[in-house]
Amino acid sequence: MKSTREPTHTRCAISACGWCDRNGDLCRFCAGTGWWRPERPHREVNGLVVWHRVDEPCRGCAGTGKEHGSTAAS
Ligand SMILES: [Zn+2]
Ligand SMILES: [Zn+2]
Repeated sequence: MKSTREPTHTRCAISACGWCDRNGDLCRFCAGTGWWRPERPHREVNGLVVWHRVDEPCRGCAGTGKEHGSTAAS
């Protein structure tokens, strides 16, 4: 099974995004993969809580794998 994934987007939703125009800076959250793998709590029918690992497009770079600075953090 292939474990590495390609970025889902070549550009983010922002047109003329200066971060997307840059090359060489990999997203610090997903290391340039465009994906992050958080763990989600899931309650079983017996009340036990288990953690499921899920794949989501990286929110730090909108799935582009490119560093988008700290604009979303402020
Ligand atoms: Zn962008
Ligand atoms: Zn990212």
